[in-house]
Amino acid sequence: MKPDKYLKNYIAGALVPPESGEYIDNINPAIGQVYSYIPDSDERDVQRAVEAAEKAFPEWSSCGVRKRFRILMRVADIIEQNLEEFAKAESVDSGKPVSMASTVDIPRAHENLRFFATAILHFAAESHHMEGQAINYTLRQPLGVVGCISPWNLPLYLFTWKIAPALASGNCVVSKPSELTPMTAYLLSKACMEGGLPPGVLNIVHGLGPKTGQAIVEHPRVKAISFTGGTATGRKIAETAAPVFKKLSLELGGKNPNIIFADCDFNQMMVDTLRSSFSNNGQICLCGSRIYVERPIYERFRDEFVKRTQFLKVGDPALPVSDLGALVSKAHMEKVQSYLKLAEVEGGKILCGGTPVEVGGECEGGYFLRPAIIEGLPISCRTNQEEIFGPVVTIQPFDTEEEAIALANGVQYGLASTVWTNNLQRAQRVAERLQAGIVWINCWMLRDLRTPFGGVKHSGVGREGGWEALRFFTEAKNVCMKY
Ligand code: NAD
Repeated sequence: MKPDKYLKNYIAGALVPPESGEYIDNINPAIGQVYSYIPDSDERDVQRAVEAAEKAFPEWSSCGVRKRFRILMRVADIIEQNLEEFAKAESVDSGKPVSMASTVDIPRAHENLRFFATAILHFAAESHHMEGQAINYTLRQPLGVVGCISPWNLPLYLFTWKIAPALASGNCVVSKPSELTPMTAYLLSKACMEGGLPPGVLNIVHGLGPKTGQAIVEHPRVKAISFTGGTATGRKIAETAAPVFKKLSLELGGKNPNIIFADCDFNQMMVDTLRSSFSNNGQICLCGSRIYVERPIYERFRDEFVKRTQFLKVGDPALPVSDLGALVSKAHMEKVQSYLKLAEVEGGKILCGGTPVEVGGECEGGYFLRPAIIEGLPISCRTNQEEIFGPVVTIQPFDTEEEAIALANGVQYGLASTVWTNNLQRAQRVAERLQAGIVWINCWMLRDLRTPFGGVKHSGVGREGGWEALRFFTEAKNVCMKY
């Protein structure tokens, strides 16, 4: 399963060029050069995809869960059998180390498919008995044609996280991966063809957000939109979809706090805090970007954290020794650098990093940055309020539990949060008061796919994961039968 130079859309079971005949450059961020071309699709391609999905829906939605289970499991197997090719493609497309793509991104992608393929076998609806009179039972029926739109940071991982529950529950999908990282979705279309997914059940239309993505959201026969991406894009999608009452799931940005109490297991906290700060160059929506440390251990934490961060190896993502690869694009690297400048203007002190890295060789033109730690900024400043989504964290001491909670909750976002303490009561108290969809205590990114996943405040609307996702992709219909 090889990446191609000219990607094609996957519509009605076939790989087809865009109607416009136009293509967009696809850049390898580790070398800063175009290496393939993506269909510049428009509303005509989306229209064809919706028609294909509508045609496939009656059969797919009624063929029975066991058939859907078998096909999705086959597609998962094909991804797993081609793990190396998928991981390499993900690394080249996104700049992330191939070691991460092969141990996190791609394994999770086939697990997403397996998880929802098996979940649908166990999915059940409720019944409500009115004694002596009637019985109510709830039908959970697929919605029809649904739209799934995903971002670039965990490309196949998040793409499959959406399409797997949508397909398992009997919907047909019109989807769009990010234009920055389309390659593994393209490889997935080949896996679906090999795995025998019936034509039109899944359609993958490549292209730009405001053109292709917007056409999916606007299409009157697309019943629901499951979107993961930035908060500003989520707002735009809600503006389009809400007035026509489309079902919406919005997984948006974050500015996650990491609260560290003095009584924590210092070594474990340090290992995980390094990961939660800089995994994937900080380009994971769950990364902790604001670190609050109880004052008695603040200096010890700061010195050790800076030392370990300086040891991280930024380099060619193809090499197993690289801890961090390239940022996803030139524009994104410039955005991250602009925040580093802003942090200094706002009075912050950059303790380490923030400078471009000359990796050399093939990677001479790549977008590499040393991970940065900033100290001395108030919660109110833009650096602490806005999502940077790069290898940048701020650190700050706190004195009381109350103060830590106020700092953690002091932003418009509310996706994930992390608490480090060995005091059981405090851990529960703080978890209860954090304004976030996810709280990790003494760990980070430990994921059970059955749990609800999503954010509060400007981090989104709705939940993914487990039954939540299957409920989103089905409509509940109550049937009341008198006897
Ligand atoms: P983005 O919002 O720019 O793009 C996401 C997707 O939406 C892309 O496929 C893009 O082409 C498409 N899009 C853009 N404009 C559109 C429009 N008008 N209509 C329809 N689709 C449109 O986000 P990004 O830069 O790709 O990803 C980074 C963001 O994603 C960060 O804010 C990050 O926090 C967020 N994210 C959130 C989660 C989560 O689970 N909450 C997970 C990963 C990433």
